[in-house]
Formats: sequence, C-alpha cells, structure tokens
Amino acid sequence: MGALTLSGVTKSFGRTDVIKGVDLEVADGEFCVFVGPSGCGKSTLLRMIAGLEDVTAGDVAIDGRRVNDLAPARRRIAMVFQSYALYPHLTVRDNMGLALRQAGEPRDRIRQAVDKAAGMLALGPLLDRRPAELSGGQRQRVAIGRAIVRTPRLFLFDEPLSNLDAALRVATRIEIARLHRDLGATMIYVTHDQVEAMTLADKIVVLRGGRVEQVGAPMDLYNDPDNTFVAGFIGSPQ
Ligand code: ADP
Ligand code: MG
Repeated sequence: MGALTLSGVTKSFGRTDVIKGVDLEVADGEFCVFVGPSGCGKSTLLRMIAGLEDVTAGDVAIDGRRVNDLAPARRRIAMVFQSYALYPHLTVRDNMGLALRQAGEPRDRIRQAVDKAAGMLALGPLLDRRPAELSGGQRQRVAIGRAIVRTPRLFLFDEPLSNLDAALRVATRIEIARLHRDLGATMIYVTHDQVEAMTLADKIVVLRGGRVEQVGAPMDLYNDPDNTFVAGFIGSPQ
C-alpha cells in the first residue's frame, strides 16, 4: 500500500508555471528523496501529493487510483514539516491522538495506537508533557509520532530536520531510517542535505526549475550523473 504515480503533473500560480509536467513512479515501500535548489518546486510537489494544493494539469495516483479530487484527509497521507505544528495547550498524548479523536475512533484504540507509536520513538516518558516542555528534537519526534498514529500509506517529509542542530539531525535521521524499515511504509522526503539524501534514499529525484532532471539510486547518480548540475547536488567528484 502506498505506491505513488505522478503523470504530467503541472502547477501554475497565475501565469507562472512552477511544476512543469512531472512524471514519477514511487514503488510501494520505497524511500524516495527529492533534492534541488530552493524555489525549484519541492514543497509545491509534496503539497499536491498531499492534496493541500490543486493540480493544474496531470494526475496524482495512489495504489493505481487517481486521487486528484480526493480531500487531503481521505488520502491516508501524513505530512511532517520542518515546523512541528503541535498544539501548545495539548499534552504529547493528546497531540498524537488528536486526528484519531477527530475521526471518532474509540478511546481504547486511540490509547493503544498512541502507546505503540510512542514506544517506537521512545516518547513514553514524555506523553504527559506539553510542547513547551520539550526540546526541538523531542517536538519533531512527537510530530513524527503523530503521523505514525494515523497509519498512513504514504509519509511526506518536508525538510524535517532543518531546524535541528547537527547532532540531533543525525539521531533523528537514523530514527527515520529505522521507522522506514519497521513500518515498511512508502516515504517521500525533501532535503537540502547530501548526507541525508545519500543515506536515506532508495531513489533520489533531482529537481530543477519544476522539472525532473534525473532519477536514480544514490550510488548510480553519484557515479554517473547526467550533467554537472546533478553532480553538484549529489556531491560527485567533478
Ligand atoms: P522549494 O520547496 O523547492 O523551495 P516551492 O515549492 O516552495 O520550492 O516554490 C516553488 C516556486 O513556486 C517558487 O518560485 C515559489 O515562489 C512559488 N510559489 C510557491 N507557492 C506559491 C503560491 N502560493 N503563490 C505563488 N507562487 C508560489
Ligand atoms: Mg520547500
């Protein structure tokens, strides 16, 4: 569950084409990383996959089903941003369980789902705290936990580690890799960071000016970039 297909996906804001006919296949369970310069359209592409932004042309399909007209809440997609967007007045437990509560799930089920996600992320001891009582790294783990609780078929991460210091970035990156292994979920992950891209990805998509410049496994791109732009992004020797 969670294979993604983009066919000719295009986005225009007014007369400006920001995404220009993107075709992409992400296999079920694959870890796919988007890299590219600031402003090339990475966030816009994620937002269209999540349904937070309309597609101007083309199709987004999940597990072979076109979802262009499906509301975000019905796509079973979880998105984790660089700002954690936690509710300050709610405890960690209530932040993590909120989506299930809003969906009308029974209390026992919510408690179980939150406890399970908290166990995976070592958040057990923090469940009764409020966001202000947590470090930046802990808040990001809660945001990831909140995503897991909803058992999405697709996880979208938009530069989730960019507000963390170097040591926490490494720790959280390792945690995301472990989650990917444990959950077997499909993940799409935007980053600026070469090390994140090279270590996390099954497949890297290099974007440039709203188009796909090259797609490949990390070592294939590294060893055989199509051009100097890709080489520069992947850190290949030039
Ligand atoms: P990235 O995440 O790769 O840095 P974005 O997807 O945020 O890039 O933005 C891609 C381009 O689309 C940028 O030029 C940005 O200014 C433009 N853009 C994004 N959102 C909007 C919007 N709501 N209205 C107009 N232009 C937008
Ligand atoms: Mg962005």
